[in-house]
Amino acid sequence: SSAHPKYDYQSDVARMRKIVIDSLYSHKDIFLRELVSNANDANEKLRLTALKDKTVWNGVDPLNITIKPIKDEEGTGGRIIISDTGIGMSSEELRANLGTLAKSGTSEFLAQADGAEGGNKGNLIGAFGLGFYSSFLVADRVRVSSIPPRSEKNPNPVQHVFYSSAEDNSFEVYPDPRGNTLGRGTEITLHLKEDAAEYLDNSRISTLVEKHSSYSTVFPIYLFNQKTIEVPDEEAEAEAKKASEQREKEEKEKKEAAESAPEKDEDEALVEEEDEEKQEKEVQPPKMKPVVVDEWLHLNSRPAIWMRDPKDVTDEDYKLFYSSFFKDGDEPMNWQHFTAETSGVSFKAIIYIPSKIEETYWQQPLQYQAKDVKIMSKGVFITNDLGEEGQLPKWAAWVKVVVDADDLPLMVSRETLQSSRFLKQLKGVLLKRIMGMFSKLTEEEDKEKFEAFHTVFKTVLKLGAVEDVKNRDKLSSLARFHTNFRNLTSLDQYLENRKQGQKQIFYLSEIGKEPEEMSESVFVEKLHARGYEVLLLNEPLDEIFVQNIRNWKNIPFQDVAKVGLKFGDEALAEKDEKEQQKMYEKKFKPLMDYLRRKAFKVVRDVVISNRLVTSPVAVVADYHGYTANVQRMMSASHA
Ligand code: ADP
Ligand code: MG
Repeated sequence: SSAHPKYDYQSDVARMRKIVIDSLYSHKDIFLRELVSNANDANEKLRLTALKDKTVWNGVDPLNITIKPIKDEEGTGGRIIISDTGIGMSSEELRANLGTLAKSGTSEFLAQADGAEGGNKGNLIGAFGLGFYSSFLVADRVRVSSIPPRSEKNPNPVQHVFYSSAEDNSFEVYPDPRGNTLGRGTEITLHLKEDAAEYLDNSRISTLVEKHSSYSTVFPIYLFNQKTIEVPDEEAEAEAKKASEQREKEEKEKKEAAESAPEKDEDEALVEEEDEEKQEKEVQPPKMKPVVVDEWLHLNSRPAIWMRDPKDVTDEDYKLFYSSFFKDGDEPMNWQHFTAETSGVSFKAIIYIPSKIEETYWQQPLQYQAKDVKIMSKGVFITNDLGEEGQLPKWAAWVKVVVDADDLPLMVSRETLQSSRFLKQLKGVLLKRIMGMFSKLTEEEDKEKFEAFHTVFKTVLKLGAVEDVKNRDKLSSLARFHTNFRNLTSLDQYLENRKQGQKQIFYLSEIGKEPEEMSESVFVEKLHARGYEVLLLNEPLDEIFVQNIRNWKNIPFQDVAKVGLKFGDEALAEKDEKEQQKMYEKKFKPLMDYLRRKAFKVVRDVVISNRLVTSPVAVVADYHGYTANVQRMMSASHA
């Protein structure tokens, strides 16, 4: 094969292959998922290309995926052939797609894999997929034969081979000496390593496909199988026939001889008659022999999980589907499977709440667009672009949903779908459901689950309350806060616990501070001493939340570090206090004047306060002025 042109792998690919081969040894299984996923993509690409150029595919020829394990004669090793009838690759594409790392997914993986610890790598694999290079986990040699579809633009495609071995840092591309054997598509032959012989076992393959591919593959996956059946053995049958004819002949002769002999007594004759009857009834079973026949087993023949009756789907099914369909290595926190109807379109859907929100969301929540609301029609993916009208508010954009609307025409264009009312109304349905799921998680009896939910979603709830005016009340009621008395308090619980006459919701806001530290603050101490609960807000979004919703059940929020603080129980003492205040002002006027003169550059005023218990002095923000936190947020968001 040294006569074929050789190419060096791009350095990234060499690195990638090395990582795959060296460190993912215990995750060998993924090769099958990756190759089936590529085959699925290839079929899908052909279908989409044919929407624009009808000469590429007639819409009838089957699009499928086949897996064929072949044992070596000696029975020690063997190969697996994975084929599709999809878009195929030209010789240039074989070089570019399999010899370089063009794909974002794999290069992103590379960037993270170097730093990842062993255990974390499992999750990374789930999240990224390693693609074609995972072939080398199980194979020491890989041959890819491929041919693009014949079309008006490309009337005479030529089938090419890409060939590479695991040790070698180069690959070959050359015209397939067998000619055009595929018609269209790609055939990948893996020459299995000795320790990968387990993948020659059909039950192993079908288990893996069921687990990792059946949920995310739209096209039929067939597994080549050889089974033994019993068929009539014609040779044996013919011999048996001959033998029985011989017997009959002999008996006939015997009978004829007996008839010419003297009569027997009656008893004997009876016995003989019975024997004769018995012989007539005895039908010989046909002679059978085992033969081996070829068949193709359809592995993903069950309807998609979302199309099934929820009664027939186990939690395990929901979780497996989630991880393979949304490529999330962590189990979902919660899910809901339902049927609904909107604008005359009935649909089935599963909404998943992930157990984490991905980093890219937090990097820029306000720019983030939902990408995991996958709209299907009869099992075929249509789009994940919800259009302007259907776009989810930012607070919900991390959600993972599969929606299958039977009535959407199969080849509906994205534009038609986006201009339909369906997406806009779908948004309403999804938001309502998500809030319902949130409510349930908020009432979670299990303390750990309750806390886990709030740890992940507290910011999302506040973001929603600020952003989504229509759902503000609901989302605010689900939010939880630290206070000087307790953790995870809702606004309703705060109001229930307020003191008689209390007309403000007290809060202190200091980004990033621990609640324990905040409750020792000079601003909180006096309220605490008098038995008032104070919300301790330490997240960047808290202050924006408070300033946007302004009051809860008509009780306004009051920053305890700002002027305007009122206690409910001071009404009676108010007169006394006013007089006392006047007295103090007179008494300390020289000191006040002195301080005002000294500090006029840094503070607006110096006043006598009744808010402090043990601290001698506190700097407070002006009621109308932005506090330092918000100023910081504002300048950050304009940066
Ligand atoms: P990814 O699937 O993430 O792009 P892979 O390493 O799995 O990365 O595949 C690399 C590229 O090779 C694909 O993007 C595709 O262009 C091409 N490819 C792989 N398998 C096939 C196939 N069966 N048919 C056509 N093209 C394929
Ligand atoms: Mg891939």
